[in-house]
Amino acid sequence: MALFDYDLFVIGAGSGGVRAARIAASHGARVAVAEEYRVGGTCVIRGCVPKKLLVYASHYGEDFDDAAGYGWRLPADARPTLDWVSLRDNVQAEVSRLNGLYMQTLGNAGVEIIPSRAVLVDEHTLQLDGRRVTARHILIAVGARPSLPDIPGAELGITSNEAFHLETLPRRVIVSGGGYIATEFAGIFHGLGAETVQLYRGETILRGWDDELRTRLQAIYQDKGIHVRTGATLARLDRAADGAIIATLTDGSTLAADSVLHAIGRVPNTAGLGLESAGVATDAAGAVLVDADQRTSTGHIYAVGDVTNRVQLTPVAIKEGHAFADTVFGGKPWRADHDTIPSAVFSQPALASVGLTEAEARQKFNDIKVFRSDFRPMKHTVAGRAERSLCKLVVDGATDRVLGAHMLGADAAEIIQAVAIAVKMGATKAQFDATIAVHPTAAEEFVLMR
Ligand code: NDP
Repeated sequence: MALFDYDLFVIGAGSGGVRAARIAASHGARVAVAEEYRVGGTCVIRGCVPKKLLVYASHYGEDFDDAAGYGWRLPADARPTLDWVSLRDNVQAEVSRLNGLYMQTLGNAGVEIIPSRAVLVDEHTLQLDGRRVTARHILIAVGARPSLPDIPGAELGITSNEAFHLETLPRRVIVSGGGYIATEFAGIFHGLGAETVQLYRGETILRGWDDELRTRLQAIYQDKGIHVRTGATLARLDRAADGAIIATLTDGSTLAADSVLHAIGRVPNTAGLGLESAGVATDAAGAVLVDADQRTSTGHIYAVGDVTNRVQLTPVAIKEGHAFADTVFGGKPWRADHDTIPSAVFSQPALASVGLTEAEARQKFNDIKVFRSDFRPMKHTVAGRAERSLCKLVVDGATDRVLGAHMLGADAAEIIQAVAIAVKMGATKAQFDATIAVHPTAAEEFVLMR
């Protein structure tokens, strides 16, 4: 008889947990995954996927305007209007379809899905709804959740979790934060027609991204009509007699809104997980501490993804889960590489990046060359839109190696994904220059900058 009920028990069926479970099972392990909500995790259920669909939806507002330059006419006085409920429900239908596919994939791989919360009782035992199970190895893949500000009335606001389920589209929205989620949702709400304020405590949103591009994006947001309010944040929220939310800011001013979205970072989902009982060490923020092999302080317990609070990105969690499963169950040891990770903010226009920003490169290298292309995309000429794109390459003058590539503009995420291969391979600027352009595209700027 087997010593343990399972070879691997995964807590959390998000991107990292699902990949690890599936790969471990393919290596012959007896695997179960416990999920207290829906299979798919943040990315599929309340993150990347529904967010991107809302980004597409919100773009149509501008697309209708741009179409006029291309000769398209609506009947006199007709204005396109948004049916929020139809959009919301269509997006949720797609989320449900993906949820089903994920469950099917796990089932086909022979993974047992247990719809229950799982809490560690000791280093090999888990408490599920109504029963206990044991496992030789445990993977913690419980992700993170939005953090709320510690202010009076915080509960009057929503987080990105609720934003996908609103009964109605708010007329006036305050989005609090200057990171990925706030910047993406400011673009979404504005594009769908809400009066939108993005409230950020610093001076320029998207700290950590290349300064030139984030400054440009903030200016574009202001031009579009998104009110980017900087140098202040929320001090309190109150409900007015007419149902509006009154936001008092740290500078003493007030704003009225129908909805306030808190997007000020995400915290690891480790509260009440029983980590102490299993001897799993966490940092001050509650993140599970792991080594390069995803191993926690308890040797046979591992963790991947947002719960480790290193790089909160879906593809990173997937790589970590895959590496863990191949290493522990497949006899093929490898590690997720956290160096030179490309990523994108699905703002409008999108901002995408791989490698070092100009400021980071100047700190690390003595001789930095910067190449930039600042252009009005062809599509915007006939449409009559003034918005300009910006592409930038950061190069080490000593070796000619491209250290960073950055783009603000339509399709930036798609373009940077391909450029990231060259940057990851250590390509030189001369090799970029030797590449023939695909004309006319925006991506060709990356091989034409001189
Ligand atoms: P981020 O860490 O990106 O941004 C948090 C923002 O909130 C920052 O602007 C920060 O300001 C501000 N902030 C932090 N604490 C406070 C506070 N107490 N009061 C006021 N403002 C505060 O977090 P997000 O919530 O936007 O996203 C979480 C993570 O999810 C991201 O880091 C990213 O890894 C991932 N994600 C990725 C996406 C993608 O790949 N497209 C999309 C969405 C999320 P400051 O800059 O001053 O610190």
